[in-house]
Amino acid sequence: MKTQPVIIAGAGIAGLSIAYELQQKGIPYEILEAGSHAGGVIKSLHVDGYELDAGPNSLAASPEILAYIDQLGLQDKVLEATAASKNRFLVRNNQLHAVSPHPLKILRSNYISGAAKWRLFTERFHSPRPVEGEESVTSFVTRRFGREINEYLFEPILSGIYAGNPDLMSISEVLPMLPQWEKKYGSVTKGLMKNMKTMGGRKIIAFKGGNAVLTEKLLSLLTGKIRLNCAITGVTRGASDYIVQYNENGSTGMQNAERVIFATPAYSTAVAIQGLDASLASQLHDIPYPRMGVLHLGFGAEAQGKAPEGFGFLVPHAAGKHFLGALCNTAVFPSRVPEGKTLFTVFVGGARQEQLFDQLGAEKLQQTVVKELMELLGLKIPPEMQRFSQWNRAIPQLNVGHAQIRQQIHFFEQRYPGIRLAGNYVTGVAVPAIIQAAKGYS
Ligand SMILES: Cc1cc2nc3c(=O)[nH]c(=O)nc-3n(C[C@H](O)[C@H](O)[C@H](O)COP(=O)(O)OP(=O)(O)OC[C@H]3O[C@@H](n4cnc5c(N)ncnc54)[C@H](O)[C@@H]3O)c2cc1C
Repeated sequence: MKTQPVIIAGAGIAGLSIAYELQQKGIPYEILEAGSHAGGVIKSLHVDGYELDAGPNSLAASPEILAYIDQLGLQDKVLEATAASKNRFLVRNNQLHAVSPHPLKILRSNYISGAAKWRLFTERFHSPRPVEGEESVTSFVTRRFGREINEYLFEPILSGIYAGNPDLMSISEVLPMLPQWEKKYGSVTKGLMKNMKTMGGRKIIAFKGGNAVLTEKLLSLLTGKIRLNCAITGVTRGASDYIVQYNENGSTGMQNAERVIFATPAYSTAVAIQGLDASLASQLHDIPYPRMGVLHLGFGAEAQGKAPEGFGFLVPHAAGKHFLGALCNTAVFPSRVPEGKTLFTVFVGGARQEQLFDQLGAEKLQQTVVKELMELLGLKIPPEMQRFSQWNRAIPQLNVGHAQIRQQIHFFEQRYPGIRLAGNYVTGVAVPAIIQAAKGYS
């Protein structure tokens, strides 16, 4: 009898990299993708000579991920970030402050107050206080370091990764080492100093031509069937397997499968598994995916020398601006920007500011952000190139309660052997983490 292909729902980086793993092992598969394109949120644009990414702009690649990229044959397409990308900036009192994640260097900066520096310096003398269950970032960081360090360091850094709200985010999900260090060494700063050496080793990279080069390459290497405009709508038990229901180009259909891997966003997976586990479906449905905007701004000659020479700058919520931060693309990946131009990628919305879309409308919001950014950098001449990409459901929030969702997923997969859940809300949101996790799905 012919082996049934594994059904993979979703052709984002999770679905594509899982398909690639199955293919390497000779396991037949078929991908069902709801949209008309593969790649999910990885989307590159070419505008007036600029290479833009509406989704992920860079990857923090470990040696394993670099080897994977070589294996795909993409080594010639890899762009390494410049040395300047090591410089990071934070905004306070309408000024950019250079900061380093190294605690001793933060102690030397003007970015935080003397009182906050004291809390940072003396954190190692505070004994741990056991906390029942999952703790929020704000609760953990405030307990260890005080309110200012939470508001001016952790909040902007996490909003740069998750566009999240630290009052809600789970510390064990987004910064798992911190509670581990507290437990092991009795102090986060002690843990950081002890582990500093082993924490490096990642290179910031992007791809020549835009990051969609990665998903396009995977797509070109996959020999299994990929059905676009084909959304999984449900899954039920068959006699000895599962019956997958789908809607393909407006027509409904069914297909039997022994194995189904959902590499779809939590809210889509929720709909599909509703008939099998209404309780997990409800939890997946409730994972927030706040609205976000990615505003690309290209400036002319005036901006040269005025853009910070670094990866970018993050804006604490307390600074009262209408954006979360900006990447300084020209300083990091200069070859992706036309000669003489300066490109910023500005992030808007997220868990704490998504209401701005409704309050101002996308047009006015962009105008406000451009004005604020120009004021901050002392620019007088408006951008020559402006491109706005809106994500109505951008990044899943790994909030307090996520550990319980993980446990439910584990029980669900045990109860329904052959069904697996994947994607960024399961394996972590960073693209390298998703690729790495794909190995566990074969
Ligand atoms: C604006 C932005 C900036 C980011 N920046 C970075 C960054 O700089 N570095 C980094 O590492 N990460 C970054 N991320 C995170 C990272 O890009 C994502 O976590 C990752 O790409 C998600 O991959 P995925 O395959 O899990 O999900 P997705 O990309 O969302 O793919 C899921 C796919 O499932 C399909 N689908 C949905 N419903 C169904 C259905 N019922 N049936 C079939 N198919 C369905 C969708 O159409 C989609 O193609 C960023 C994300 C965003 C949004």
